[in-house]
Amino acid sequence: MEYLDFLVELHGNAERQGPGGDEQTRRAVELSGLANKQGLRIADIGCGTGASVLTLAKMLDAEITAVDFLPAFLTELNLRAASNGVSDRITTVEASMDKLEFEPSSFDAIWSEGAIYNIGFEAGVRDWRQYLKPNGVLAVSELTWLTDKRPQDLERFWNEAYPEVGTASEKLSVLERNGYTPLGYFPLPKECWMENYYHPVRRKLNSMRVKYNDSEVVPKYVEQELEEIRLYEAHSDYVSYGFYIVKKLTD
Ligand code: SAH
Repeated sequence: MEYLDFLVELHGNAERQGPGGDEQTRRAVELSGLANKQGLRIADIGCGTGASVLTLAKMLDAEITAVDFLPAFLTELNLRAASNGVSDRITTVEASMDKLEFEPSSFDAIWSEGAIYNIGFEAGVRDWRQYLKPNGVLAVSELTWLTDKRPQDLERFWNEAYPEVGTASEKLSVLERNGYTPLGYFPLPKECWMENYYHPVRRKLNSMRVKYNDSEVVPKYVEQELEEIRLYEAHSDYVSYGFYIVKKLTD
């Protein structure tokens, strides 16, 4: 089994493919100042099966373009949009987040929860800025150190898996030097990782371990995922996703 196929089976029917929560998406919307605006155009990049897309569609007067490079996730998103009665306001686009083909200044907001790390935080915020209208909002969640110093094993793991991991002040500096001004920041609480994400992932991992008992690679993939969960559980005071809500400064 290829690693991508493993990921699709692990996450394909899940509510979300990374740490997050409806309450936290709503909090980010409140900080964004979008709540009372009409006729918004929003892109949700790395949308997965659409947890944040559905929350945005229910909360806002908006047309949402939901982008992901895995078609299986977009199919699931479309089913969910239909059963939530919001299909008419959601368009799915299969594309890679580093090769977007939107017109410049297309969107009032770009949303991206737990996904920008795939192209790197700074590369993403720099590149996506062109697609925002003047004063447009960027709302992204990103792996963030919660403290100045961390346990060594945690630091080693994440520095290797994602060298751009940094503190909130470092992330805000990146945003400022790329032409944004902060509207808000908050770290995701532990339940966004455990109840909303890792618990369902762990149940699925256990069933995949049994199902692919004979596979050469699946048990290894499963073990890697479990290791990440164990590490988070042991060190949840030191690391989380930070939610950054910023506004595009005019040039
Ligand atoms: N925003 C969703 C999914 C987060 S997981 C949520 O919060 O639940 C990260 C998502 O990014 C996955 O759906 C994955 O398929 C997508 N992704 C990874 N690399 C990508 C790329 N290069 N282009 C577009 N999407 C990508």
